[in-house]
Amino acid sequence: MTSPTASLGHCHDLLERISRYIDGELPAADRQEIERHLRDCPECEEVLHSLEHTVDLCREAGRPGLPPELRARAAARVHQLLARAAKRKKR
Ligand SMILES: [Zn+2]
Repeated sequence: MTSPTASLGHCHDLLERISRYIDGELPAADRQEIERHLRDCPECEEVLHSLEHTVDLCREAGRPGLPPELRARAAARVHQLLARAAKRKKR
């Protein structure tokens, strides 16, 4: 059995690192941990996909990585999704 609070804590931990994951700044062990988590966590997967989309747009515009304002927006979205997930998982 999985504890909802424990898995949410894991989401939080993971999402704090997700922008560095996209930037390729994380060590291999961390990347693997994130990839494993994404396989059974639709919330985090959704966050990653929307962030990757944003990063793609930046790259197409010739900008490497995430500009600070986009990073801030992404963080806000992550918190929004986490709050939603917390509500759904709590009873
Ligand atoms: Zn998660």
